[in-house]
Amino acid sequence: MQLKFLKQIVEEAIGGPAEELVNLLSEKKDINEFLIAKRLNLTINQTRNILYKLSHFGILSSIRKKDKRKGWYIYFWTLDTFRSLEILRAKMQTEIEKLKHEFATKQIQRFYKCPICGTEISEEEALITDFLCTECGEVYVLSDNVQQIHAISKKITKLTKDLELIGAEMQIEQEKLDKKLAKIIKKVQKDKKDKRLKNTIIRKRLKQKLERDNKKAGNNAFKQPSKKIINKKKKKR
Ligand SMILES: [Zn+2]
Repeated sequence: MQLKFLKQIVEEAIGGPAEELVNLLSEKKDINEFLIAKRLNLTINQTRNILYKLSHFGILSSIRKKDKRKGWYIYFWTLDTFRSLEILRAKMQTEIEKLKHEFATKQIQRFYKCPICGTEISEEEALITDFLCTECGEVYVLSDNVQQIHAISKKITKLTKDLELIGAEMQIEQEKLDKKLAKIIKKVQKDKKDKRLKNTIIRKRLKQKLERDNKKAGNNAFKQPSKKIINKKKKKR
C-alpha cells in the first residue's frame, strides 16, 4: 500500500517513472549510490541528478563516507517515508480543495465549450465574445455540466479515500518513529545510569583508599611523636 504512494510522490518529484528506485529505497536505509546506479541502469551522474532532486524535495537524506582505497566520498541514501507521505498528503488536500471549488462552481454556473478545439469558458466570458470561440471562431455550445460534475465527484471520492489510507500509513510510520525515539531515550538513560553507577564505585573506592591512607597516616602520626617523646625522655635521663 505504502509503495503505491511512495512511487506517486517520487514520480512527481523527479518527473518520471520511479518503480525500480522506490523498490530499492524502500528495502533498507543507507544505500550506496553506486548500487542505485547499477540497479537503475544509469550512469553515476544521472543517478546523482535524480537523488539530488529528491533530496531538494526533502524526502531523501544522505550520509557520506570516504572510500579508503580510492580516497573519494561515496554517498549513502535513505528515503524518508514519513516526510514523503506528509508531502503527498498536503498535495492531495490542495487538489481536493480545488476540485470541491470546481464542483461548486459547475453546479451554479453554466459553461460553454468549443466543439472544435475543446476550449471551455464561463457564460460571462461567452457573452463577451458573442459565443464565438476566440481560438477558431466556432460557435460555442452549452457544456455538459452533469457529466463533468459526476467526474469531479468521482475524483474527490477517490482522493478522499487515498487520503484516509495515507493517514493510516502515516500513523504506522509515526509509531515506528516513536518506538525508535523511545529506544534512543532508553539507551541514553541507561548510559547515564551506568555512568553514575561507575562514578559511585570509583568514588567509593577513592574514599576507601583515602580512609586507609588517613588511617595509616594517623597511626604514624600517633606513633611517631610518642616515640620521639619517649626518646627525648630517655635522652634527658
Ligand atoms: Zn475553438
